[in-house]
Amino acid sequence: MRHRKGINLARPADYAVDLTHDTLGSLPEMFVLVAACPACHKRAPIDRWDLGRQLGKRSILANVAKMLKCSRCGNRAGNRLLLGKLPRD
Ligand SMILES: [Zn+2]
Repeated sequence: MRHRKGINLARPADYAVDLTHDTLGSLPEMFVLVAACPACHKRAPIDRWDLGRQLGKRSILANVAKMLKCSRCGNRAGNRLLLGKLPRD
């Protein structure tokens, strides 16, 4: 699975990130969040810093995932968060 910028996407468990425990603030800075819609298979990168300002850095990632709404089909159910690791320069 490859992001268009060449960032590898993976499930959080692959990076030992626990969505029910980790928050927008505790997630290491090298990670980018990508929302995945199960209905239309759209993937969209999320600005985690912007989200942190809106929802608070202490927002648990699993709860953030529940609030996602697909920008393509409007689906709100079962949207998932994937993690990407920024390449080191
Ligand atoms: Zn969708």
